[in-house]
Amino acid sequence: MKTIAVTGGKGGTGKSTVATALAVLLGKKHKVLLVDADVDCPNDHLLLGIERKPLKKVFQRVPKWDFAKCAKCGKCAEACKTHAIFALKGKQPVFLPQQCNGCGACTLACPQKAIGWTKKEIGTVFKGEGHGIDFLSGELKVNEPVSEFVVASLKEEAKKIEKGYDFVLFDTAAGTHCDVISALENADLALAVTEPTPLGEHDLELIAGLLKRLGIPFEIVLNRFEEGREALIESLAERHGKKIAAKIPYSKKIMEKYSEGIPVKHKSIEKIAGLVE
Ligand code: SF4
Ligand code: SF4
Repeated sequence: MKTIAVTGGKGGTGKSTVATALAVLLGKKHKVLLVDADVDCPNDHLLLGIERKPLKKVFQRVPKWDFAKCAKCGKCAEACKTHAIFALKGKQPVFLPQQCNGCGACTLACPQKAIGWTKKEIGTVFKGEGHGIDFLSGELKVNEPVSEFVVASLKEEAKKIEKGYDFVLFDTAAGTHCDVISALENADLALAVTEPTPLGEHDLELIAGLLKRLGIPFEIVLNRFEEGREALIESLAERHGKKIAAKIPYSKKIMEKYSEGIPVKHKSIEKIAGLVE
C-alpha cells in the first residue's frame, strides 16, 4: 500500500479535481481508497456524485461544572483564551461550548476543583463508494473551532482498512496548517497542485518548504495551464530542482465536467497516474 497526498498551499487551485480524477483513473487498475481530509469544506463526494453514509461521530472534550463546589471567583473565565466562559464577580460562570477548544486551562485554574469533563459532538466521518473506488470523508460541524480531531478520527478509520488497498489518496485542506500536516504525515508522495498566478507561486513555495521539512518527496502539478503563463511556476520548480510533472489546461470542457460532477479525463491526469504507479 502506498499513500499519496494531493495538496497545495492555496485554496481553489483544483486539488480536489486532481484528487478525484486521479483516484478514479487509478481505480480502474488498482484498489483505491480516496480520503477527503478537507474537513472544513469537503467536496470530493459532490465532485464524484457519491452518496456518503455516516460511519462515526467525532467528539471533543469540554468542561463540565459542579456548581455546588463553585466559589464564583471567575478564575476559570480569566484562564480561558477563547472566551468560552463568561463570568461576573459573585455569579456562576456561563459556558459557551462552541467557543471551547478543550484546552483544559479552566480546569487547572479552578481553586475549588469544580470543573470536570464531558464531551460535545463536533463532526462526522462518512464512508461511501462509487466509480470503482472506496471513499472516506470527514466533516466539521458549522461553528466548531477545532477541525484537527475530525482529521485525526478520519485518519484512524483510514488506518484500520488501508492494508486492503494498493493506493490511499489523501485530499488535504489548502494551506500549511495543522490539519494539512496531519493529513500529509507518512505520505509516500505528495502532489502539490498550483495555478500560474503570483499567489499560486507564493503558496506553492510555502507547501514545498513544508514538504521538504517533513521529508516527503513531491511533484508539482500545474492546473489551469495556459501557454505563456507557466514561467513563474517553472522557475520555482527549478529552484527546488524539479520540473512541472503535469500541466492541466485551462479548458471550458474540463470546467463543464467539473460542474457536472464527472471526473476529469485528460492526458495530464494519465501522466500523473503513471508517475504515481
Ligand atoms: S477547556 Fe479551554 S477553551 Fe474550553 S472553556 Fe476551558 S479554558 Fe476555555
Ligand atoms: S474557577 Fe472554579 S470556583 Fe472559580 S468561578 Fe470558575 S468554577 Fe467557580
